[in-house]
Amino acid sequence: MKRPLSWQIATVVDVRPETAKVKTFTLELPDWTPHRAGQHYDVRLTAPDGYQAQRSYSVASEPERNKEIDLTVEHLEDGEVSSYLHDVVIPGDQIEVRGPIGGYFVWESARGGSLLLIAGGSGIVPLMSMIRHRAAAGSTVPTRLLYSSRTPEDVIYYEELQKRRAIDKGIEVFHTFTRARPSGWTGYVRRIDHQMLREVAEPLGEGLQAFICGPTLFVEAAANALVQTGIKPEQIRTERFGPTGGSS
Ligand SMILES: Cc1cc2nc3c(=O)[nH]c(=O)nc-3n(C[C@H](O)[C@H](O)[C@H](O)COP(=O)(O)OP(=O)(O)OC[C@H]3O[C@@H](n4cnc5c(N)ncnc54)[C@H](O)[C@@H]3O)c2cc1C
Repeated sequence: MKRPLSWQIATVVDVRPETAKVKTFTLELPDWTPHRAGQHYDVRLTAPDGYQAQRSYSVASEPERNKEIDLTVEHLEDGEVSSYLHDVVIPGDQIEVRGPIGGYFVWESARGGSLLLIAGGSGIVPLMSMIRHRAAAGSTVPTRLLYSSRTPEDVIYYEELQKRRAIDKGIEVFHTFTRARPSGWTGYVRRIDHQMLREVAEPLGEGLQAFICGPTLFVEAAANALVQTGIKPEQIRTERFGPTGGSS
């Protein structure tokens, strides 16, 4: 029987930059269990003196991928765990992880309906797992992603999102930039608000399911604005990337 909450030693098989501050780590798991899109793993680091630090990271890859998961991590200045992952970890290293964890912020293609995905910064990670799962499962569920980034250089998975929207008319991507816009940009250039959400959500109809992920204040503002557009709280699921875990 699987014990999803047991710690296991994963091997890092690939590390690749996504942006200047974000890297994706591919981990091979000896005791792999398919996750549900939206779930996360805990990562635990142990120093030679026994000091431990533990943080949560959403799975970025689709559940259909065998034995491996991708974690996409933003480097926070002075961040204990994200700095270690960015500055020290290389392919071949081993990392202690446990998961998959979480049963609320998840989406499965069998559910149908239509999907509104709202991301702030690295909050795109579990939503990308949903987008990849949707494609791998052959789902045609109408999907709209509203993705807020500070600058164009901060957009994670930009190329992949462009490719997916080009080959799949069922998925539409809307970027908004809060600090700097690309030259010639005619799209959104402000924080997510009620008007923007109304414009993006309306074509999805009444029965949509919304997932919002990002920093705590972003998630709260977006969820409140979404309720103002008439979407019921039970249609909205949220995940906050606030400070987590702990040290001992
Ligand atoms: C369910 C869940 C899933 C998550 N998934 C991801 C993911 O896929 N990718 C990812 O990059 N992060 C994710 N996070 C956030 C992650 O768990 C850590 O909080 C983050 O990497 C910072 O850890 P650290 O040890 O580097 O920084 P710390 O040493 O804990 O903190 C350094 C400084 O940054 C502040 N801080 C801590 N966390 C954040 C944050 N998230 N945003 C802004 N400031 C912060 C602290 O208050 C402190 O001032 C997730 C969090 C949760 C709860």
